[in-house]
Amino acid sequence: MALVKLSGVKKSYKLGETLVPALRGIDLEIRAGEFTSVIGASGSGKSTLLNLVGCLDQPTEGSIQISGAEVTEMNETQQCDLRNEKIGFIFQSFNLVPVLNVWENIELPLLVKAKLSLDERKKRVASVISAVGLDSFIEHKPDQLSGGQRQRVAIARALVTKPSLVLADEPTANLDSKTAHMILDLMADLNKTQNVTFLFCSHDEKLIGRVGRIVRIQDGVIVE
Ligand code: ADP
Ligand code: MG
Repeated sequence: MALVKLSGVKKSYKLGETLVPALRGIDLEIRAGEFTSVIGASGSGKSTLLNLVGCLDQPTEGSIQISGAEVTEMNETQQCDLRNEKIGFIFQSFNLVPVLNVWENIELPLLVKAKLSLDERKKRVASVISAVGLDSFIEHKPDQLSGGQRQRVAIARALVTKPSLVLADEPTANLDSKTAHMILDLMADLNKTQNVTFLFCSHDEKLIGRVGRIVRIQDGVIVE
């Protein structure tokens, strides 16, 4: 079974009196363990697509299934639970909490999981911090880190809940190209060694040789 299955997904935004079509009929399947990258120009619908898969927004039309469950038929609480349990997010602008240090930023999503013991929580945080190579930066605040290090924190934070799917919306767009490649290599490595499923989008053609599967999007439709 596909981890994610989109069928006939359309999304239009209302802008005053007009409807802006952002996605115009998307069919896409993502299997567990894949590293898929959605490549398309700015405005082609990449963020809209990721937001729909991440249950952050509703499609205008079509079906979205995650592990076989129809997301469009869930209420807000059910979608929220699904998001918390199964999905990790990485954003272009890192979205870290400035007053929290590296350890605390990464621990944050676990604090809502009452089931976890303190011991298990510490183990999980320590393990993802090692996985992204930030062991010596545990007490640093985000403003004491480079862009690449901040994105590593965000990746660790996305992984700490052990999600089935990690969505990354242009995670390398605010980084220089060398750092961008390092971050991409890190995600590819986590995909291989920890079997994390990634759905990653970018407008940067230069990054595409490095990932498993490429989906091209243009004006709200998949062209390849
Ligand atoms: P990308 O991430 O590939 O740059 P987006 O998914 O952000 O593309 O946008 C796709 C299209 O939808 C664009 O034409 C954009 O202007 C439009 N759009 C995105 N978000 C909104 C919104 N909240 N309201 C109106 N139009 C939007
Ligand atoms: Mg975008």
